[in-house]
Amino acid sequence: MRIAIVGGGIAALAAARRLERLLPRGDIVLVERERRLGGKLLTERVGGFVVEGAPDSFLSRKERGIGLCTELGLGGELIARRPGMGGTFVRRGGELHPLPEGLSGMIPTHLEALSGSGLLSPAGRERVAAEIDLPPAPPGADESIAAFITRRFGDEAYRMLVEPIMTGIFGGNGDRLSLAATFPTLRELELAHGSVIRGLLAQPSPGGTEPPFLTLRPGLATLASRVVEQLHRTQLLVGRRAVALRCRGGGYLLELDGGDTLPADAAVLALPAHVTAEVVAGLDGGLAAAHAEIPHASSAVVTLAYRAEAVGHPLDGYGYVVPRSERTDVLACTWTSSKWEGRAPEGSVLVRVYAGRSGSRDVATESDASLVTLATEELDLIGIGGQPVLVRIHRWPRGMPQYVLGHQERVDRIDAALAGFPGLAVAGAAYHGVGIPDCIASGEGAAESVARTLHAVAR
Ligand SMILES: Cc1cc2nc3c(=O)[nH]c(=O)nc-3n(C[C@H](O)[C@H](O)[C@H](O)COP(=O)(O)OP(=O)(O)OC[C@H]3O[C@@H](n4cnc5c(N)ncnc54)[C@H](O)[C@@H]3O)c2cc1C
Repeated sequence: MRIAIVGGGIAALAAARRLERLLPRGDIVLVERERRLGGKLLTERVGGFVVEGAPDSFLSRKERGIGLCTELGLGGELIARRPGMGGTFVRRGGELHPLPEGLSGMIPTHLEALSGSGLLSPAGRERVAAEIDLPPAPPGADESIAAFITRRFGDEAYRMLVEPIMTGIFGGNGDRLSLAATFPTLRELELAHGSVIRGLLAQPSPGGTEPPFLTLRPGLATLASRVVEQLHRTQLLVGRRAVALRCRGGGYLLELDGGDTLPADAAVLALPAHVTAEVVAGLDGGLAAAHAEIPHASSAVVTLAYRAEAVGHPLDGYGYVVPRSERTDVLACTWTSSKWEGRAPEGSVLVRVYAGRSGSRDVATESDASLVTLATEELDLIGIGGQPVLVRIHRWPRGMPQYVLGHQERVDRIDAALAGFPGLAVAGAAYHGVGIPDCIASGEGAAESVARTLHAVAR
């Protein structure tokens, strides 16, 4: 039995690993357009610096991040953010305001700490405190993140606190992003407890002692490369682009660029949704259309290194996020060498500027010079100037799927269409979560679904 996996990001690699276990005699072929495997997990080691091209960490509470690292023997390489740093800030003008303590995700639950932070006006803080007594909205249609947070906590808390944190995760526009698809628990807490704050305070403190964010000492690309090293039976076809998937006999035929074809009994498509839309266009119009309706945001990450003595800022924290009201394409700035150990050689600092605001210009099409100007003008605002000793730029055109209003309904339509194609599964960031642990879980889930079908056929 042959299974074709299309894509070489972490979702596809997790699918291959799981399929090797579930189908010990399966012939697994993985097709990746680039010569490099790992997709958005991209780490560069240059001049003693460790530069992450896209993700720099993952959430520990979603179990397949730590789970896969441990299974791969990478448990000892997991590191947390450096302790004792000043936390994360919000930039307003040239000023950095610390995010208040007691944020549960992005929701303030510690109202005294909020008073101390200076981020919100007294009226804005009062409005947040009033959330506790605000009656819940009756069950209804999908609501945007902006509408929900503004309704519960007020406009100022949305603009100054929640919007910049949320944008740093999804790179999107809170007016369009679906609450149900991004932060469903917030609405569940409102309905169950009558108040989000009351609901969060009533939750048992999370078990375990894991810090919230983790990364790998050698960089996150190690997660992908270690999976690849431990694949024993998967044939890796790199530098080959899949162009179409069709039905053939009881199975599928994958068409590659250059006219080659690959027959397969089953297939896992672990691609960006807009690519899946093209690949399945000839297979099923409804499946293609639902994928094509998932919008994607582009982003760019500009990483700069400086001699420490040239930097007029203590970088005593993890970095900061930037509200939309600041009218810049920059979403966040990470003080990488303060946040993680071992990212810069002694005497140097490493910072990264994350840009790409949905609804604004497409930063992924900007020239290197324009992106460096954007980043250095941003850093100037907080007093980081001088000549960088290293500049690395990573562009991610249409790199982040946007879970806009109606996302869940689109995913339901995708699942319904897939039910008509036994042995075909999809995986990756487009469906049930963009984070690395979500993508691992979705790849493994796709592998299990395909293996179930093939076992049933073999019986
Ligand atoms: C700038 C940025 C920062 C991020 N930060 C974080 C973070 O800190 N923490 C976190 O958890 N997540 C973060 N994410 C999200 C996370 O990195 C991604 O959602 C996740 O890595 C996606 O994995 P994937 O396997 O679904 O897709 P991808 O990694 O996109 O893999 C898809 C693969 O398909 C290949 N491909 C495309 N077309 C074809 C074709 N026609 N034929 C064959 N192959 C093809 C691509 O080359 C690619 O390798 C970030 C994302 C970005 C863009």
